Amino acid sequence: MDFYDVVIVGSGPAGMGAAFEITAKQPDASILMIDQERFSTGGMRNDCKMNFTYPIGFPEEYWTKEQANRYMEEVTRFLKPDILHKSNIGIYQQRAQRLGCRLLEIRQSHLGTDGGLLLIKRLLAELHALGVDLALGETMLSVDDTLKYIQTDKRDIGYKTLLLAPGRKGFHFLQMMLQSLGVPFLDNIVDIGVRVETRLEHYPIVKDYYDPKFYFPEKVRTFCTNSGDAHVVKEKYTTARGDTWYSVNGHAYSADTHEANGLVNFAILKTVKFTAPLASGQAYAENLGMQAALMGGGRPLMQRVGDFRLGSRSKADSFNTDLYDFPPSLKDCCPGDISLAMPAKILRVIWKAMKNLDTIVPGVLHPSTIMYYPEIKLYANKPVYLDDHFRVTGSVFLAGDGAGTSRGITAAWASGIRCAEGMLRVMEP
Ligand SMILES: Cc1cc2nc3c(=O)[nH]c(=O)nc-3n(C[C@H](O)[C@H](O)[C@H](O)COP(=O)(O)OP(=O)(O)OC[C@H]3O[C@@H](n4cnc5c(N)ncnc54)[C@H](O)[C@@H]3O)c2cc1C
Repeated sequence: MDFYDVVIVGSGPAGMGAAFEITAKQPDASILMIDQERFSTGGMRNDCKMNFTYPIGFPEEYWTKEQANRYMEEVTRFLKPDILHKSNIGIYQQRAQRLGCRLLEIRQSHLGTDGGLLLIKRLLAELHALGVDLALGETMLSVDDTLKYIQTDKRDIGYKTLLLAPGRKGFHFLQMMLQSLGVPFLDNIVDIGVRVETRLEHYPIVKDYYDPKFYFPEKVRTFCTNSGDAHVVKEKYTTARGDTWYSVNGHAYSADTHEANGLVNFAILKTVKFTAPLASGQAYAENLGMQAALMGGGRPLMQRVGDFRLGSRSKADSFNTDLYDFPPSLKDCCPGDISLAMPAKILRVIWKAMKNLDTIVPGVLHPSTIMYYPEIKLYANKPVYLDDHFRVTGSVFLAGDGAGTSRGITAAWASGIRCAEGMLRVMEP
């Protein structure tokens, strides 16, 4: 059986943050990093928009401002962001405040989907040069923490200390690992909403602020705004029973290499928290996803704002360039009526937020604007941690989005460093 001092599962920012920290503090430790894909599949690979202002990405139950800022300095050293310029923020903030809404001012950078891939390649090469063994295209299947080894689809690997950082994609995998490790966890929060797509001239704020973070009443917010060469995409999910559903998402390519397509997209999400008897955000999300798939013949739904306002479903001819003025960037989507698929309580507050947004940035509710549904973010599993370093057993640590310790690239990296500090202690003789 192969053996390493440190095994890291997931080569996203959480795994990388941990690997760099351990190589810096204990260069002679043997380290293996595993990923089921050749390149990590989270935010670094998709759009790679990075936020450098607390609390964006940092769940406040795990991070104080001082703590986050301290780690952020180290994250900044590795990610070397070019912070984007912002303008006219005061005007938008004033308009928002009058409506009881907030616009957060965040330090941001944007590499784009192509730029993110270059960053990943650079960081992997650096880790390789530092002596980290990379096993890309290898999937972890199970763990035995009593005998201290994991099983992958290729081999058994022993460890002194183990970090699981499987991201949002590994949400279900992480739940299985927590169950097998006997670690209690909660999964009772989920974000549900729509992705809005419109012409740049109907949402010109993006020229002043790349990813404006608006907070509306009733836990509704804008999230992940993309412009330049911006596209809406769909992500496939499979339930435990093997049924397929889709969530939409958005990304853009780097402004340096791609010509703008004149479109902007962003999500408007409501956070929903459950208590009893339903305590699984994932179960709820899956049911909503399946409901949307049922309405859309297996595809997500899309509806023009003009149709929505009239209470009519959108039809194929709502997506011509005659009546309305731009074709959807996500073609494989079903014209329909999102109000038949979305719970009224969620739709009501999201529509209210969109009306507020239209007052702050007039034009976004142009009849041609498209709402895609569903956009669902599984919040994360919330395991019971044993210490400040996200340790769940004597030698197993969890980091990143899948484990609820972050909600963005920079915080995921920071959470990896925090785990690494704990892992270094486990390795102390
Ligand atoms: C499509 C998409 C776009 C996003 N865009 C942004 C963005 O622009 N900015 C931002 O701040 N955040 C973004 N996010 C959120 C972002 O992914 C995260 O905050 C960040 O990447 C989380 O880092 P992570 O290391 O926890 O997980 P990830 O980056 O998701 O990495 C986890 C890795 O673990 C691997 N893995 C999972 N299970 C296994 C297994 N069993 N065996 C082996 N490997 C496994 C996965 O293949 C994956 O590469 C996005 C997320 C998604 C899904």
